[in-house]
Amino acid sequence: MATVCSVCGSSEVIYHRRYSGEIFCRRCFLKNIIERVRATISRYELLKPFDKIAVAVSGGKDSLSLLKILYEIERDFPRASLTAITIDEGIPEYRDEAVENAVKYAENLGVPHYVFSFKDFFGFTLTEVVENGIADAISLQPCTICGVLRRRALTLAAKKVGATVIATAHTLDDIVQTYFLNILRGDTRFTPIGIRREVEGVIPRIAPFRLIPEYEIVLYAFLSNIPFQTYTCPYVERSMRNMVRAFLTEYEEKFPGSLYAALSSFEKVYTKSIEEDRRCRKCGEPTGREVCRACELVEKILERLKN
Ligand code: SF4
Ligand code: ZN
Repeated sequence: MATVCSVCGSSEVIYHRRYSGEIFCRRCFLKNIIERVRATISRYELLKPFDKIAVAVSGGKDSLSLLKILYEIERDFPRASLTAITIDEGIPEYRDEAVENAVKYAENLGVPHYVFSFKDFFGFTLTEVVENGIADAISLQPCTICGVLRRRALTLAAKKVGATVIATAHTLDDIVQTYFLNILRGDTRFTPIGIRREVEGVIPRIAPFRLIPEYEIVLYAFLSNIPFQTYTCPYVERSMRNMVRAFLTEYEEKFPGSLYAALSSFEKVYTKSIEEDRRCRKCGEPTGREVCRACELVEKILERLKN
């Protein structure tokens, strides 16, 4: 095996991309990640020239990496603008640290940044929901509640800042995990994730990292001196996604390229989202039901908090 960078020939190699056989030095790896994000944006037409891009920045390494990369790529779209939005679910220490990282990072780049919270939008924090026994009472894992409400909060936040598109830091791993989780829940509608879809009245979501494995983003963040969190979310252990993630990570380690193979299989069987056809009676957002999951959940939680 050659021990020099496949791009520039340097002997200071730092990464062997097993699924493609390429070898990189630090400089060429960082450049390659940016180029791949750029290629993903162009392949799926994720951005438009006049976009007002709201980057969902949780404050974790993935989202800070996305902010940094989009900040660089935005120069290709001189008439587009970038705003960072952070949703604070109200998870002490874990989210506090992340919000602090997000604030500092956006400030250093000079990107306008806004923090919104579950408390502001819904009237409660995730911790209040879990600690009052409401998650157990309604038989939902904290991560399920967090996921549904964060998605809604992001939409509300993006509307407030006047965004035309929401960019999230979902990686190849995240997307494949979501498809597997859907299968395990009996949901076999494979709608595209992180690809721009124009639906009237809906701010599209894009995932510029959708073709990049999580471990490459971790390496990118590490090599770019992006801060890593010291706290982990106290609820992560209870997450179903965590189990699926562990399985898929081990599988990819043994059989490099499996995640790409899985994504390409799902892409072949994409179905039209039925969500595009119906609107929630309460909030007007697209949903496959009469009242969307977010509205239903907020109502249930508020009712129980009152009692
Ligand atoms: Fe929310 Fe679960 Fe992530 Fe914690 S681990 S931030 S509860 S989705
Ligand atoms: Zn609704």
